[in-house]
Amino acid sequence: MKFLFLLLVALVVIWAIKRSRVNPPAGSDKAQTASPTEMVACAQCGIHLPRAEGVSGQNGLYCSTEHRSAAHDSNPA
Ligand SMILES: [Zn+2]
Repeated sequence: MKFLFLLLVALVVIWAIKRSRVNPPAGSDKAQTASPTEMVACAQCGIHLPRAEGVSGQNGLYCSTEHRSAAHDSNPA
C-alpha cells in the first residue's frame, strides 16, 4: 500500500513538471499563426475561393475549368 502511495506522488510530481513546461510564455507568437488568405470571386458564378485554388483565365479567375469554359474564356498561359 505504501508503494502505491509513492507511485501516486511520483505521478503527481511528473504531471506538475510537464504542466509547467507546456504553458507557453506570455506574448507568444499568436500573431504569426494566423496567415490571411486572399479570397477571390469566380467570374462566372461569383463563389469565393482562395486565390491559390482559383483557375486563371484571360478575363479573371474562376472556381473551376468548367466555369472558365462556360464563360468562353481560356488559359492565358
Ligand atoms: Zn464558378
